[in-house]
Amino acid sequence: MKSAWRDRDADELVTRSRDQGIASDVALRVYTTRLLGRDPLLVMHGGGNTSLKTVERDLFGEQVSVLRVKGSGWDMAEIEAAGMPAVRLEPLLKLRELARLSDEDMVAFQRANLIDPTAPNPSVETLLHAFLPHTSIDHTHSAAVLSLIDQEFDVPLLTEVYGARVGLVDYVKPGFALAQASARVYEANPGVEGLILRQHGIFTFGDDPKQSYDRMVALVTLAEERLKRGRKTQVFVPAAVPAAIASPSHVAPILRGLLAFPSNDLDSADDKRVVLEFRTSTAIRAYVDGAEVRSYSQRGVVTPDHAIRTKPWPLVVPAPDDTAIEAFADGARAAAEAYLAKYREYFIRHNGVREPAKIALDPYPRVVLVPGLGLFGVGRSVAAARIAADLAVNTVRIVTDAEAIGRYQPVSEADLFDMEYWSLEQAKLGKSSDPAFAGQVVVVTGGGGGIGAAAARAFAAEGAAVAILDRDGPVAGAIASGFKERGLAITCDVTDAKSVRAAFDTICATFGGVDIVVSNAGAAWQGEIGTVADEVLRASFELNFWSHQHVAQNAVRVMLAQGTGGSLLFNASKQAMNPGSGFGPYGLPKAATIALMKQYALEYGGHGIHANAVNADRVRTGLFAKGLLEERAAARGVSVEEYLRTGNLLKREVKPEDVAAAFVGLAKARKTTAAIITVDGGNIAASVR
Ligand SMILES: [Zn+2]
Repeated sequence: MKSAWRDRDADELVTRSRDQGIASDVALRVYTTRLLGRDPLLVMHGGGNTSLKTVERDLFGEQVSVLRVKGSGWDMAEIEAAGMPAVRLEPLLKLRELARLSDEDMVAFQRANLIDPTAPNPSVETLLHAFLPHTSIDHTHSAAVLSLIDQEFDVPLLTEVYGARVGLVDYVKPGFALAQASARVYEANPGVEGLILRQHGIFTFGDDPKQSYDRMVALVTLAEERLKRGRKTQVFVPAAVPAAIASPSHVAPILRGLLAFPSNDLDSADDKRVVLEFRTSTAIRAYVDGAEVRSYSQRGVVTPDHAIRTKPWPLVVPAPDDTAIEAFADGARAAAEAYLAKYREYFIRHNGVREPAKIALDPYPRVVLVPGLGLFGVGRSVAAARIAADLAVNTVRIVTDAEAIGRYQPVSEADLFDMEYWSLEQAKLGKSSDPAFAGQVVVVTGGGGGIGAAAARAFAAEGAAVAILDRDGPVAGAIASGFKERGLAITCDVTDAKSVRAAFDTICATFGGVDIVVSNAGAAWQGEIGTVADEVLRASFELNFWSHQHVAQNAVRVMLAQGTGGSLLFNASKQAMNPGSGFGPYGLPKAATIALMKQYALEYGGHGIHANAVNADRVRTGLFAKGLLEERAAARGVSVEEYLRTGNLLKREVKPEDVAAAFVGLAKARKTTAAIITVDGGNIAASVR
């Protein structure tokens, strides 16, 4: 690897930090921490930390020796000085006298010795940093180093590569015991530049942040160079895969259905859904297509903290033959069931010997390997699915390199269990609950504005991933960007069946499937029914009826593949119940859409698919062509404001958010189907009879 250190950047940060009262050594520590954090081959999703021993003033103005160490919750790539809390060093050093210290006591003691009690929790590897005497210490889970240490015979390999430059520490879970063991290894070999923690990662030391960083670069480079030598010409012998492989958008809903966590209370909620994140590349294909993938992929994670995010092993399913997708679905189901059984046995086997007993986590995989295709990350949120996919891609690289020069062998299963069921992780259980639509994928047509945008926001606010379909791509993009990684904008003409199919394929390839559809896009056409041109009526039917059919048909296709039910929500109209003169071209297809909703409710209720409609009226949106609202108001002899506010029983203006709330309510109403909810402030003539 190349050093990313640039004198100019370092100087700039030092100067800028000085203005904020931050000392230059701390500024440089922040600078190199960012350099490490920005390299995914060194640090990924929390796997690394750094420290600096320095002197700071306390409240009394007295100089105190402190350890500045990475705080939890901070991303090293973006860290600031505030993300490296200062802990009093003397009390930390006194802990060396203890024979043992629980993780809970360690965390509490570290917090109690913070200079700023509001600072984030210091890293769980704080004591390791404290017990070593060096001013600056860097720790990473370098991919190249992991390929050397996750080996059946790692010690001879590490001795060959590093000689006496590093000390080797046997695997111990992070915490007090690892800190003690590491300090002892260092004290026996005080000339070393760093420590290799077997099956875990690497530490380097320095007199200042530049030296520890330079040593990290040098030691990682040695690992990279070793991985280039004596490689097998073909690391994985490929297994035969079918000639026609199903697409990710075809495969994802099947997997997603198998991986939905069953709810504890089936009466009140659907299965807990997951989001999928697909990845593929030449390297991923070589790995997942390997004839021995069920061997090397099941040996365990590359560094133990991955077990918390990805479970100890991925699920491997059969290659999805596009000409026999039913057989794939059956094979994937059998593989998933075997995985759940294996996980439950793993829990019982390891929990049986532990005190106190652990709380079982859900047994579902977080990574799925699909021969012939690639891999999927799985999570209860888009962010979690992406993290799982990132870690899986990193794992492919590390295992491939390990197998290229030897045999991949990570930490033992018992140690993986200890990490996955770490008391500090167990303590977090049950403290936060998922939002109502966590893991659910919602599609909103006409989502770029008005009721559609309000519905998209309402579902996103309760945790859903939301796909926004709109004819106007940039408008959809503006709404979707507000939901960050949970938003997806698709330019789509819902009157075009091909365009709708393509949109649903994109949604399945992006999030893994579909749970709730708000079929909202519509527009008002007018004309006296006895004289209106056929083209006008047909154009209205295309958008106000056919688009709903295209959308519902695609949604049902995906929902049936998932097998976890779903919710179809249609935006109907008052015109369907209570026709207004001259609005036939609008009302007729809307009436047909109500019939369409009932037909879907009838034919798919047995599959847990709900179909309902919201009948909204007098909502100020783009639905009304310019001047139309004014025209309607004038017909009643009132102003637009009055028409909207006072033309209903409740004398309240109906807003897009009110309609959105009705869609959300219907999506949550698990025992309601074929219903029409009216949101119009009250209009007896238009009430459902
Ligand atoms: Zn670590």
